[in-house]
Amino acid sequence: MKCFRHHEIDALGICKNCSKGLCSDCLADLKDGIACKDTCTARVEAINALISSSVTQSRHVLLSLIYCMIGILFGITAYGNSAQGPGGYVFYVPAIIFFGIGVYFFLAPKLANKK
Ligand SMILES: [Zn+2]
Ligand SMILES: [Zn+2]
Repeated sequence: MKCFRHHEIDALGICKNCSKGLCSDCLADLKDGIACKDTCTARVEAINALISSSVTQSRHVLLSLIYCMIGILFGITAYGNSAQGPGGYVFYVPAIIFFGIGVYFFLAPKLANKK
């Protein structure tokens, strides 16, 4: 494939936004792909930012759910065992810790976005 502006020069890559072939003079090398130097740089940067933030957010929500579930399981165990004696209250400690971590993962991306 040739560069879309310089038809005699081989393209080194394809713009992430408009899929045109770009030579070394025409491409802007961004962290997660390349873009047309003048026209598509801002758009591709916006796309990359959107993708990375939504990926971290869904990963955080998943982790948050897992930790909260473990916390709830410990909570149920603690509730069941505490009926049989004071030793059961020990399970409330990991229940609170795991639930706390879960809440932290849920809130962390929201707090980070406020910056
Ligand atoms: Zn482009
Ligand atoms: Zn070119």
